[in-house]
Amino acid sequence: MSAESAVRAASIVAALLFILSLAGLSRHETAKAGNVFGMAGMAIALAAIIGLASRSIDGTGLALIALAMVVGAAIGIWRARRVEMTGMPELIAVLHSFVGLAAVLVGWNGYLSVEARAGEQTEVAGSLLGIHSAEVFIGVFIGAVTLTGSVVAFGKLSGRIRSNPLMLPGRTLLNIGALVAFVVLTVLFVVGPNLGLLIAVTVLALALGWHLVASIGGGDMPVVVSMLNSYSGWAAAASGFLLDSDLLIVTGALVGSSGAYLSYIMCRAMNRSFLSVIAGGFGNEGGTAPDRDYGDHREISPEDAAALLLDATSVVITPGYGMAVAQAQYPVAELTRKLRERGVTVRFGIHPVAGRLPGHMNVLLAEAKVPYDVVLEMDEINDDFPDTSVVLVIGANDTVNPAAIDDSGSPIAGMPVLHVWEAEHVIVFKRSMSTGYAGVQNPLFFRDNSSMLFGDAKERVEDILRAL
Ligand code: NDP
Repeated sequence: MSAESAVRAASIVAALLFILSLAGLSRHETAKAGNVFGMAGMAIALAAIIGLASRSIDGTGLALIALAMVVGAAIGIWRARRVEMTGMPELIAVLHSFVGLAAVLVGWNGYLSVEARAGEQTEVAGSLLGIHSAEVFIGVFIGAVTLTGSVVAFGKLSGRIRSNPLMLPGRTLLNIGALVAFVVLTVLFVVGPNLGLLIAVTVLALALGWHLVASIGGGDMPVVVSMLNSYSGWAAAASGFLLDSDLLIVTGALVGSSGAYLSYIMCRAMNRSFLSVIAGGFGNEGGTAPDRDYGDHREISPEDAAALLLDATSVVITPGYGMAVAQAQYPVAELTRKLRERGVTVRFGIHPVAGRLPGHMNVLLAEAKVPYDVVLEMDEINDDFPDTSVVLVIGANDTVNPAAIDDSGSPIAGMPVLHVWEAEHVIVFKRSMSTGYAGVQNPLFFRDNSSMLFGDAKERVEDILRAL
């Protein structure tokens, strides 16, 4: 078998493993196997590509590749071991920016090794040159948008940049203008490729990526994370065309389309249209003013909370970002076990955007060995709250905010939420009366059937366990 057919065969196996990986990652039970498939696919792909490259690269080139891989792997392992679950979206945003940067570099390299050497004998000539130029331009454009978009997303998610949307006048026109300029520049570049046009599209795309994400507010960040995931896939696919790599095209398309589908699911979960997310502005300050007077709130002690739980027939736990911060999933799992032993029905209600990344709460609960069958999606549990004795809201805020339904002026109006207030008693675990991610006050805390249990969620759940 020739080296080319060996690489082709390896590419097909790797692509199949990536598809199996995605399928595996879609369910808790098979997620670990999905990760293993993905790692195996990546190892095969790397071995095949490096094996092929070794035929045309000298010893120094191979040594440089090995060095880059060792340094990259060391940094990757170091970061992955240190990152907290709550810091995962930031890490993912940074990783997307690397994919964008790589696509820009591959595009520029394509130009420097083909178009810039017009007149010399290069691999690409004649009508193929026009296709190559289009590939360079599109790859650089998608890559640069992904690069700056991901950097801004990282800044917003890590709190380094304010999460409020940047509201430039005529921002939609600016975005549309940039797209039209891109089309015009592409045509000019295909007709007469030159460095000036390439610099122009790079700057244009860097500015567009920055503006696109800067003008999206905090409330829409879940969609932005998955949208950038999708962009990074398309950037990789564009590089695949330039590098003539089928595997990169297939992998990029898998990432691009699964990211796009995830964005669609997130938009549906938040009752937003994809276009309105891109147009930006959501999650703006205003609407329900944080200092509006909602009346008084009541507090409850861990002992009284334990007594309520012992009297309950049905308990629903709705976790949110605060459970992740407090790492409260282990005592929460213990509490679940104890209550179930005493004959109380305990279930979990998971909002699609609870926490800071898709599936955040499911991962934490699986880590703490909460049985999968008691962990329900929002739609599966929302009708059951009127028959629920006690709801424990553990570090959740935006995802249980009735203002999304009652207050059409609220920045989160229209977002589907967990109807926890319909239960007999609601106990809210948080450290203060401060707002959640969207910066909106929550009228739930002031309802007659709600009580606040202040403090770190993990410590308070442990207090309840002791009282039980
Ligand atoms: P929120 O971010 O709305 O609220 C979390 C609450 O947890 C805060 O009000 C905070 O209150 C409390 N908290 C923080 N630390 C602790 C602690 N140690 N112990 C107890 N409580 C604590 O959480 P939700 O999960 O309800 O909502 C998720 C939000 O994040 C949504 O707005 C969503 O759009 C957004 N988002 C989601 C992403 C996703 O993909 N899932 C990605 C990016 C954003 P206090 O400070 O008073 O303790």
